[in-house]
Amino acid sequence: MNGWELAWLQRAREKQKDRRAWMHSRRDKHGNLTCEYCGSITSKRKAFSWCSATLDHRTPLSRGGKDEPDNWAVCCNRCNGLKGAMTQPEFEAWRAAKQAAKEERRRAWLAANKQGGTT
Ligand SMILES: [Zn+2]
Repeated sequence: MNGWELAWLQRAREKQKDRRAWMHSRRDKHGNLTCEYCGSITSKRKAFSWCSATLDHRTPLSRGGKDEPDNWAVCCNRCNGLKGAMTQPEFEAWRAAKQAAKEERRRAWLAANKQGGTT
């Protein structure tokens, strides 16, 4: 291992520590974390389940985002999977569109059921 590799490893390790400390700082007094996108809460006990909280990049690294605290967001596993390579505004717009489509379907369903009569 040369000096450059060693320095890189050192930096990666520091970063890992930074992230862990940052995640810790986002916990509320019960030790829970809240997803910044959907608001779902990850309790300490659920930390290793499917809905565990992860550290997400608001602007993905692959899209030029920085690996720094102001680009970090607490994100549940589900949102992280859905968000993929979207930026935060893109993801929020996508979620809003999905929500609107759901609302539209609900309205159509209600209208259809009204026509059938309420007796
Ligand atoms: Zn979420």
